[in-house]
Amino acid sequence: MTGGGGARRIADDVRSGARTARDVVEEHLTAIAAREPEIHAFNLVLADEARAAADAVDEVVARGDDPGPLAGVPLALKDNMCTRGIVTTCSSRILEGWRPPYDATVVERVRAAGAVVIGKTNLDEFAMGSSTENSAFGPTRNPHDPTRVPGGSSGGSAAAVAAGFAPLALGSDTGGSIRQPAALCGVVGVKPTYGVVSRYGLIAFASSLDQIGPFAATVEDAAVLLEAIGGHDPCDSTSIARPAPSLLAGLDDGVSGLRVGIVDEMTEIDGIEPRVREAVRAAAGGLEAAGAKVDTVSVPSATYGIAAYYLIAPAEASSNLARYDGVRYGLRVDAEDVAHMNAATREAGFGREVKRRIMLGTYALSAGYYDAYYGQAQRVRTLILRDFERVYEQFDVLIAATSPTVAFELGAKTADPLAMYLCDVCTVPANLSGHPAMSVPFGTGEGGLPIGVQVLAPALGEATMFRVARAIEQAAGKTP
Ligand code: GLN
Repeated sequence: MTGGGGARRIADDVRSGARTARDVVEEHLTAIAAREPEIHAFNLVLADEARAAADAVDEVVARGDDPGPLAGVPLALKDNMCTRGIVTTCSSRILEGWRPPYDATVVERVRAAGAVVIGKTNLDEFAMGSSTENSAFGPTRNPHDPTRVPGGSSGGSAAAVAAGFAPLALGSDTGGSIRQPAALCGVVGVKPTYGVVSRYGLIAFASSLDQIGPFAATVEDAAVLLEAIGGHDPCDSTSIARPAPSLLAGLDDGVSGLRVGIVDEMTEIDGIEPRVREAVRAAAGGLEAAGAKVDTVSVPSATYGIAAYYLIAPAEASSNLARYDGVRYGLRVDAEDVAHMNAATREAGFGREVKRRIMLGTYALSAGYYDAYYGQAQRVRTLILRDFERVYEQFDVLIAATSPTVAFELGAKTADPLAMYLCDVCTVPANLSGHPAMSVPFGTGEGGLPIGVQVLAPALGEATMFRVARAIEQAAGKTP
């Protein structure tokens, strides 16, 4: 399924002059031309810009200089990251046509590392959803089975990597939006520790949860990308004042002696497909065979993750989305006075799910309900953090399911918001705690569709997390 050659191989070839970045881009544009009409991974393909960027990389090589660790590697950007002068929509009508006046920090960093931005990918509007069906521009389809969703909200980025449109992509993960689509599309997806990757230029959904991270076909490629985008950024006040994590150096150090916990509340849950549960156990078996010590563990408060998340995230969203008032950005629907113009713009510009979140969040924050809903959810968040911190005294890493199911049919959950929210049951706990977590493909479920196993680690435990993910990836290669 995944084509085009790994990111690291491409970068090595381009740096050594064995291949030109221009050829690499043309190959990927050809792959896009062949299958994008069916998949709809992109809101915008930047063919001319990508060719020009590739030529610039080739010139650096011709001069005898090094374009960087991502030299000539095509990269797809979720369309909620700002690109200077290039339309950035968040898959919302309210931002249609808006051209940001600046680049997100991650965009500057991937370019500085030599990557070639090949397009802006589709998402659930403002990253609210788990299937990419909430896009104002139509859904993305799963490259493994186009009758099924790619997951969400970064479904376009996950599908772009799975379809071989780009070896690398960036997504954002507020409640699972990198890991869940990675699982459903059979690729690697990483949510770093909150604060490891700058959010500057990421259009805000829920600022205390949002985090940018990589998609790639392999754990190694995801590591190269996270090393390139991580590290302190003075433009983001929540950015951690540390350099990017060093991941590649210890990637193959193995898992001998590591203590691995299988999280009960994120594996033994109602509605989980038996083959997903079996995949988690089989991945644990693979780690055990590689020398890790595996046990089951309980994180009791994780059960309340969904309830807390669906108060905190909408509350923050209701505040963040107040800025779309028809004055400063994108769409404006004229009316007799400013208040009516604001209302008409928001009525026309936001989709149903975004409106639902704004109303839920506004309610949860309103006088009289604030303490019962928002305050209570914040207390649960603290409990979840403490539970994880306690568990990490006994375990180096945790594993769990990423998604309780494989990719579902388009339309299967669109009429039932609660069913859609339950897709995130295994992923939201790591957003609430701020800890890193990633999804690694491991075997297949119903219909031969990919399954993802989740690896979780304590704050700033990315290096260990990647080492375990690499061991799971190797064990997956051994399963029939
Ligand atoms: N599916 C979750 C939601 O709808 C998570 C979204 C995300 O991580 N951006 O809120």
